Amino acid sequence: MADTITCGGCTATWTAPGAAHCSGCHRSFSGVGLFDAHRSQYGERGACLDPATLTVKHGHRAGEPLMYYRAGMWRGPESTDEQKAALSALRPVDDNEDAA
Ligand SMILES: [Zn+2]
Ligand SMILES: [Zn+2]
Repeated sequence: MADTITCGGCTATWTAPGAAHCSGCHRSFSGVGLFDAHRSQYGERGACLDPATLTVKHGHRAGEPLMYYRAGMWRGPESTDEQKAALSALRPVDDNEDAA
């Protein structure tokens, strides 16, 4: 019973429950962590980065591509704990830095 999800702005469809589709650049990601990673905080309303240029900045595999385009969406190379840790490390922490 895989529901097909569609985008109102392009022809993309996907069925993965955890997938995320960007309404800005219309790329699809296998998870919210990858989606977050392609979003830049720079610019008035943020910006979309090219996933192909993103590399792992944390963890033991620093410098390796963060995600690969496979079967219609951007996916992490592996689902190891190490990868998950690297992805969670990429999450913005702005909310915790109000006190200056
Ligand atoms: Zn985007
Ligand atoms: Zn779209």
